[in-house]
Amino acid sequence: MGINKHVFGKLADGTSADLFTLTNSKGVQIKITNFGGNVVSILVPDKDGNLEDVVFGFDSLKGYEENPSYFGSIIGRYANRIAMGKFNLGGKIYTLPVNNGPNHLHGTYHKVVWNAKEIQGKDGVGIELSYLSKDGEEGYPGNLSVMVIYTLTNRNDLRIDYSAATDKETVLNLTNHSYFNLAGEGSGDILGHEMEINADKFTPVNETLIPSGELRNVKGTPFDFTTSHSIGERIEQKDEQLVFGRGYDHNFVLNKQGAEPSLAARVTEPNGGRVLEVYTTEPGIQFYCGNFLNGIIGKGGKAYNRRTGFCLETQHFPDSPNQPAFPSTVLKPGEQYKTATIYKFSMK
Ligand code: BGC
Repeated sequence: MGINKHVFGKLADGTSADLFTLTNSKGVQIKITNFGGNVVSILVPDKDGNLEDVVFGFDSLKGYEENPSYFGSIIGRYANRIAMGKFNLGGKIYTLPVNNGPNHLHGTYHKVVWNAKEIQGKDGVGIELSYLSKDGEEGYPGNLSVMVIYTLTNRNDLRIDYSAATDKETVLNLTNHSYFNLAGEGSGDILGHEMEINADKFTPVNETLIPSGELRNVKGTPFDFTTSHSIGERIEQKDEQLVFGRGYDHNFVLNKQGAEPSLAARVTEPNGGRVLEVYTTEPGIQFYCGNFLNGIIGKGGKAYNRRTGFCLETQHFPDSPNQPAFPSTVLKPGEQYKTATIYKFSMK
């Protein structure tokens, strides 16, 4: 049990980045690099005690310098899309880089070096990552000091605590973009995984995946995961939303209970019996099932093909800065941004 640190590699500009290995009392092991705060691997047991790595990633730092699909990444300043890369805040229009069709997607926090501090707690081990995102970076207002704490507990939880403060009014939305395959990364498609999402509504999108503003009932649609369904069961149905997303790539409006992290989703892989539960303080979760993956070569030379991994990105809703009816993503000077998400591993 403990934390092990070694040099992961050197970036093109000579800056060195580290790889931290967190091990808990049960032998669960998580690797995280302070380059982009990327989660590199998560080794968890199946029902027979076999450890397998259940997240996508790369063997070397070089892979993370490219990382076009955000494997394991901390996402900021704004997770998911902002329509046309523009928003109005306090009467001023801010313009962001457009990098996904006509829209802005995800930002660049996964490509910067974060300061890292090791944490040895009573209940587990962790690392505290901090980064100062400068006023004007990517076009966003305000010097934003961001902190992300990853903790691996002895209950096999990966807990992520996000906090931030700004010196100018700004918008932000932080998440983690890990791709899971509970049978083991690179082991095939995830269509047989059983999914439950604690959401009676989702936010339908247009063809560029910007929400229309409607909160639509999931009842009677392929988006109803209030009871367990395999990911693949309804994914090819003739449904306009599935066509726009090329499968599931949607924000679900979580049925919230109080301010503490509450259950957002539960995924079970029926063969090995690994279970992932996601708890969060956030109002939404993006269920993305890797529809756009096209064979990126990852760990051990494995190709990550279409629908071989899924993401459960806890978040505020996409395009909230342009959607006054959505929960606000504005942070003002003097306020503290604080959210928490727990990825809980078990087996059945
Ligand atoms: C988005 C997908 C996008 C992916 C990028 C997800 O959060 O919803 O549309 O392709 O990130 O890898």
